[in-house]
Amino acid sequence: MLQGQVAVVTGGSRGIGRATALKLAENGANVAVVYAGNEQAAQEVCAQASSGSVTARAYRCDVSDFDATKNLVEQILADFGRIDILVNNAGITRDGLVLSMKEEDFDAVVATNLKGAFHMIKHCYSHFMRKRSGRIINISSVAGLTGNAGQANYSAAKAGLIGLTKTVAKELAGRGVTCNAIAPGFIETDMTAAVNEKAREAILTAVPMKRAGKPEEVAELVAFLAGDGAQYITGEVIRVDGGLCI
Ligand code: NDP
Repeated sequence: MLQGQVAVVTGGSRGIGRATALKLAENGANVAVVYAGNEQAAQEVCAQASSGSVTARAYRCDVSDFDATKNLVEQILADFGRIDILVNNAGITRDGLVLSMKEEDFDAVVATNLKGAFHMIKHCYSHFMRKRSGRIINISSVAGLTGNAGQANYSAAKAGLIGLTKTVAKELAGRGVTCNAIAPGFIETDMTAAVNEKAREAILTAVPMKRAGKPEEVAELVAFLAGDGAQYITGEVIRVDGGLCI
């Protein structure tokens, strides 16, 4: 289905990004797995994703760094010759009430979750325009739709990502490039493993399906949005949240 295509997955070493890299590879895409520091996890994903027809390579890069992401995109283009699918998934949290939130924690979350996506899109932009095709999939969050007490930085970044998604969708629609966002709810990953038991119970009580989601359930939607069946879908935000935000 995605044979011969090249996908870039930021934050591909763990959690949702890992499941996404493996799913896209399973569908035939070559994959660039971008990670921040966890070399071993990234290499394991590449080993699992690689097969006879699929190549997967790991790239260490901090997506919040403009110059580093420029070099990254150039390196991936040099290695693979093309980029067809860009999944902006790298993300962090630095939770706290606004009253106690440090400025640096606000900046760090916006720099990784929002600016990181802007950097990657900007550096891939002319490549996508020239080849008149491309799929951009931004991993937002239900926190960006509804807000979440204790996550002003994260909610603002994820809401910003939705504005970025819709704008890029409009800018590139005429060039055959789509840009969509996914808003996951509570998904079992290292990120949510840090949530305390009481908060976790409260969230799961509010989820109509009464369970957390799996990274693979988000990856399925990424694969759909990257595939032929989603050609006419752009500027959309789709929740994968077990009904949490109905
Ligand atoms: P994890 O914490 O499990 O994984 C985060 C990934 O992002 C890792 O691969 C990490 O690399 C990478 N990363 C972090 N910072 C940077 C950076 N500056 N540059 C490059 N890579 C970076 O997160 P999840 O899988 O849970 O989340 C993935 C995305 O989904 C995030 O954007 C998150 O906000 C979003 N999301 C998650 C939800 C959930 O319930 N889990 C709900 C809604 C949205 P390394 O391994 O090297 O540290």
